[in-house]
Amino acid sequence: MTILIRDTIVVTGDDAGTIHFQGAVAIEGNRIAALGPTEELAARYPKAELVDGRNRAVFPGFANIHTHFVMTLARGVFEDLSPPHEPPFCGGLSPIPLPPLSPREQAVMCQLGALEAIRSGTTAVLEDASHIENYAQEMVDTGLRMVLAERSWDRIGTSIGDPAEFRRDPKLGQAGIDRIVKLHARWHGAGEGRIRVSVAAWAPDMCSPELLRELSALQKRLDTTCTIHLNQIWGEVAAVQAHHNMLPTEFLADLGFLNERVVAAHCRCMEPLEEKLLGKARVNVAFNSAIAARRGLSPRVCEMEQAGCNIGMGTDNMSEDMVEVARTGLFMERVRRKDGRNPTPEEALRWATRGGYKAMGWEDGGHLAPGSLADLIMIRLDRAHLAPFLRPVSVFIHQGQAADVSDVMVDGRWIMRDARVLTMDEARIVREAEEVSDRAWARLFAENPQYEKPAGFRPLPPAMGAGDAVAMHPVGGRPAPVGP
Ligand SMILES: [Zn+2]
Repeated sequence: MTILIRDTIVVTGDDAGTIHFQGAVAIEGNRIAALGPTEELAARYPKAELVDGRNRAVFPGFANIHTHFVMTLARGVFEDLSPPHEPPFCGGLSPIPLPPLSPREQAVMCQLGALEAIRSGTTAVLEDASHIENYAQEMVDTGLRMVLAERSWDRIGTSIGDPAEFRRDPKLGQAGIDRIVKLHARWHGAGEGRIRVSVAAWAPDMCSPELLRELSALQKRLDTTCTIHLNQIWGEVAAVQAHHNMLPTEFLADLGFLNERVVAAHCRCMEPLEEKLLGKARVNVAFNSAIAARRGLSPRVCEMEQAGCNIGMGTDNMSEDMVEVARTGLFMERVRRKDGRNPTPEEALRWATRGGYKAMGWEDGGHLAPGSLADLIMIRLDRAHLAPFLRPVSVFIHQGQAADVSDVMVDGRWIMRDARVLTMDEARIVREAEEVSDRAWARLFAENPQYEKPAGFRPLPPAMGAGDAVAMHPVGGRPAPVGP
């Protein structure tokens, strides 16, 4: 069956920046079959199912190449509790930890993240976490294209960004390796190939050289991608210098960890010599602009791109809004470079789409061309902030909002249509996420009186045990996928 989106504006995101006005897109199976003038494609595909594209524009879908869906739980909390940029460093990205969740609660928060991702026009996501097995089925059911990056580390007694002594537990590292191997065996290639499983190392200061060598070998053995947080905060730089007398990127390069299938997230607290090392190895960099801005840090993205890195974008914690990420990235680079013209909105769009697909190993996605993956979004143009729609890419990057996204297609299948997500019960998930959050934070503060609630925290119900929480939401309460 061919689908023909007609009478629309098609932003292809190709190298030439081609835009088809009064254009059409033909989709066959999970691929783009043709692009061009509506008259021509309507004649070529007379039996196609027609989609009215008037008052709409078609864009390639966004690729979010660094996120942790479960951390939606910390919305409104962690954004304002970043670690210091100066010593003394003591480890952790927030003085309050993320409350522990039951597997069922974890799945709900991850579905919430996936909902927001879809609503902001995301079609591909790299999810970095541990114990993804707990919610892998729910992720397949979202209809998103995903890289599930299961994480390993072997440092105990502290968290990222702590220059104190490195205490190693080889069993912890091995447990992570076992989880990666198991997740790969079970889920790599699931969802008709939409799902891939990747290796993840937490960060250079949370992994021993022995573990990083093993993970790099595992990446090669599984023939997959690999991701790591890199030069994320200044405490991490201090820690790697204390442990190895090297900068974090030097440390990874020295171990042979860097290659063109590695996604390095953040790359903010970094020396120019490290940017060159990344570029030389053709590493993919996740520019997580919105969280970077919230932390008061900025990577030198254009320099890394010039050095040879492929740039993609990610949301990282708490938000999954890629429209915001693309615009924030453009803003940050313009402020940093004191340049009112560069980067261009076309560059920001390329980072947020095609660059991300390339980083995830789908070089045939993130742009619209005959033969490329049918991962695309439609945005509504009958909106006050988008009119007049003179330059589609510029107007959407500068003025666009997640709520403008009306339709999302992944692998040739609609997962959102006319602003309704077809693959998940949105109302139930949002309601349950609020309940999960109340229970989890209430437990955390009741059991740990040393943690003070940040200003303005809402009243919480009396704390219940984790066992109660699981009983209230038994596994198997999964909604059946709706729609085509
Ligand atoms: Zn992260």
